[in-house]
Amino acid sequence: MKISKNKVVSISYKLETTNVEGAKVLVEEVNAAQPMVFLFGAGNLIQRFEDNLENKIKGDTFEFMIPSDEGYGEFDGDAVVKLPVDVFKVNGTFDREQFQPGTVVPMTDQDGNFLRGKILGVTDTEVEVDFNHPMAGQDLYFQGAVVDVREATAEEIDHGHVHGPGGHHH
Ligand code: ZN
Repeated sequence: MKISKNKVVSISYKLETTNVEGAKVLVEEVNAAQPMVFLFGAGNLIQRFEDNLENKIKGDTFEFMIPSDEGYGEFDGDAVVKLPVDVFKVNGTFDREQFQPGTVVPMTDQDGNFLRGKILGVTDTEVEVDFNHPMAGQDLYFQGAVVDVREATAEEIDHGHVHGPGGHHH
């Protein structure tokens, strides 16, 4: 069975990027025992990622690179903002300990969208936060193997995601 729209695909993979010296750096590794499982063609993943897997079958391997502009986008300087510490006060108190540089804090914007903000620095009045995706501006090097391909159920297609192992439980 070939990977195509509305197939449930399980893959193992290794994701690497490069550091400033150009050396490969491992970002994440997903093994075959606990593969990543997704509904192909549902728009849940980077388009270029799916393009590289289309028509492959169980047992096939893959190795490809996605340039940053087709991955998580270029680093956006406008996504680095300084927010007043008041925003982070809980019951009128700013707990500076929780905002060490490098800490990732879950936040929501005015529309209720979930955001991840990485703390860059803190002063007495402001917190500098980077809302870029952690992989923004980075080329993505993937290599891995197709662990399984199966037909999606009508319900999975309707929901736009996978149910059962590796997927949603509801
Ligand atoms: Zn569902």
